[in-house]
Amino acid sequence: MNAPYSTDIVVFGGGIAGLWLLNRLRDEGYDAVLLEAEGLGAAQTLASQGIIHGGLKYALGGSVTDAANTIAALPARWRACFDGTGEIDLSGCEVRSERYYMWSSASYRSKIKAFFGSKSLQGRVESVPRKDFPPFFAQATVDGSLYALPDFAVDTPSLLSLLHARYDESIFKIDPNGIGFSRDASGNANSVTLRIDTGLPNDTSGSENSTVSIQAQRMIFCAGKGNQALIDAAGLTKPAAQLRPLNMVWVKKTGLGSVFAHCIGEDFSLTPKLTVTTHIADDGVPVWYLGGEIAESGVGVPDDELIERAKRLLADLFPWVDLSGAQWGCFAIDRAEAKMADGSRPDGALFIAEDGYIAAWPTKLTLTPALADGVLSELEGNVTKKRGDGTHTLDALAQLLPKATLAKAHWDR
Ligand SMILES: Cc1cc2nc3c(=O)[nH]c(=O)nc-3n(C[C@H](O)[C@H](O)[C@H](O)COP(=O)(O)OP(=O)(O)OC[C@H]3O[C@@H](n4cnc5c(N)ncnc54)[C@H](O)[C@@H]3O)c2cc1C
Repeated sequence: MNAPYSTDIVVFGGGIAGLWLLNRLRDEGYDAVLLEAEGLGAAQTLASQGIIHGGLKYALGGSVTDAANTIAALPARWRACFDGTGEIDLSGCEVRSERYYMWSSASYRSKIKAFFGSKSLQGRVESVPRKDFPPFFAQATVDGSLYALPDFAVDTPSLLSLLHARYDESIFKIDPNGIGFSRDASGNANSVTLRIDTGLPNDTSGSENSTVSIQAQRMIFCAGKGNQALIDAAGLTKPAAQLRPLNMVWVKKTGLGSVFAHCIGEDFSLTPKLTVTTHIADDGVPVWYLGGEIAESGVGVPDDELIERAKRLLADLFPWVDLSGAQWGCFAIDRAEAKMADGSRPDGALFIAEDGYIAAWPTKLTLTPALADGVLSELEGNVTKKRGDGTHTLDALAQLLPKATLAKAHWDR
């Protein structure tokens, strides 16, 4: 085994939660390393639609809930980061759309108008007059109403790449099947042992099962779906995860217009019939990425059948668009969240601390800054800054572990 190294905090998982937290921790003066099993953003974060929600989607049930109020403050916080005035300097981060819309066809217009006109939502949503429709909806051949929400859509690859670049030297790739935790005499988190590939730069052991150990005051699990395995490996009893499956669809075609909208269905429910975001694939061709009700009801549906459903839905909602010759794809992905007694979606970001371990779930990309606030206040006064070996540890790990790189969006895989 290679000599034990030390740092203040080890973060597991390089999705938005882990990368954001690593940046906050290091900016605050903690020594921290991040260990990623696959590729940065590989799981939920690059599968997300990148919508920074202002909370209105949650209000669609007809009332403004606590979840809606918690989330309402987040867009301004993200925007401050992109302006270079927020808690993390993310100037240069690409915003895919400054506006996010709600589209409804004429048949339920009066209902939606009454709802959006309600006192509780005043000032948070604007009805867009037809003359001001963005280009895609200006071409509509059907009558419909458009509302601008206080949401916007961020380019997740650009976001991840900026967060990665700020602390690149602290981020490593590990084998998720070779992780072992040990505790100190008081039963608190003490170190993690990682299996390392032989054949990497400075591994002198020559053994097939070479390992390296990192001692830290806290181990923080931000591994999304991978959190449950880490919780089990650490022998924790308090935190537990739940998964909510989705089957997402994408369609790629040259010339597709730019659409960022929730399309509201007849039942006017919490889940929009369709949630569309527009992305640009590596070859420069636009992609519509489709979530909402179609992705929830599409779980377990064979790919070709789900794609047929998506074709019918788009023909119904956007009859002026020609999708002939388009390339289609779909993939299953789980939302990973803290376990709720009734299986419902948690209202906010959640973390659970036990014996020097912390398991964390942002619940939504949007809520990640709130998650980091909570974790940082949990550490305050309990973790000594720079008790580890700092640069020495990073230099040593760089000789033993590969670098983690950014994963690709699903349509580019
Ligand atoms: C289809 C979909 C669309 C969404 N759209 C939106 C949206 O528009 N707006 C919004 O606010 N939220 C959205 N969300 C929610 C949002 O994507 C997630 O809440 C957020 O990305 C979770 O981030 P995370 O870092 O906790 O997890 P993840 O992004 O899942 O990252 C976990 C990371 O941990 C790694 N890992 C796993 N096991 C280990 C291990 N043992 N050791 C080390 N690393 C490990 C994984 O490889 C992965 O990189 C969406 C979610 C889905 C699934």
